[in-house]
Amino acid sequence: MAGREKEQGDFAAAQRPEPMRKARIIPWLVELSRTDAAALVRGRPGDLPNLIYELRQWLDLEPGEPLNGELDRLQKNPSRLQPPIDALRQLIEAVADRRRFQTAYGGGTVILEAGRLGSEGGRALSYRDARLIDAMLRVAIDDIYEDTEAALRIGRCAQCLTVFYAGRKNQKYCSHRCANKVASRNYRGAHAQERARRERQRYRDRVRKRTGPRVKVGRGLSQ
Ligand SMILES: [Zn+2]
Repeated sequence: MAGREKEQGDFAAAQRPEPMRKARIIPWLVELSRTDAAALVRGRPGDLPNLIYELRQWLDLEPGEPLNGELDRLQKNPSRLQPPIDALRQLIEAVADRRRFQTAYGGGTVILEAGRLGSEGGRALSYRDARLIDAMLRVAIDDIYEDTEAALRIGRCAQCLTVFYAGRKNQKYCSHRCANKVASRNYRGAHAQERARRERQRYRDRVRKRTGPRVKVGRGLSQ
């Protein structure tokens, strides 16, 4: 994937957008894996073209690749994007849960430009995937593998179980909302215990007042 960071020629630049910035890729993948393709049509008018543009940036297709046409067709029929998104979600969830992800690669063409081996500019090795779902999984797996630090920030919220991208390391909850929920539950729990302890104490004090200090007041009596 090193070639994706390299300068493209002027001709290619006119045909394809700038590749996506590396720091953006993994958080964007998490976001994409939670996208409802059908809802893109009902959403804000720019949402679908924006997503298609970002897909182009991310996949970084060569101008002549057949998948360019497939991306054009998404504009009219975004529901075609749902199966690749579902597959991507399984991949992202596997990363979140740190378990194995396996997929059969449907294929396409692998091209090795032996004349470019060892030279700057232009990829020597490229894959021309036949299907969008294959391209998305292959590029996503590649990105996850190459940016381990970002990939290990994909986690599952300990409160609501949503998969999320952690802005901070060791972040346990997806949002302030979930963190607050847990904090207030713990607080209430701690207070309930404290209240129960004080009530038991008051009960013991009352019993001692009546019976004198030598009588042992059992735990069971405090109910
Ligand atoms: Zn959550």
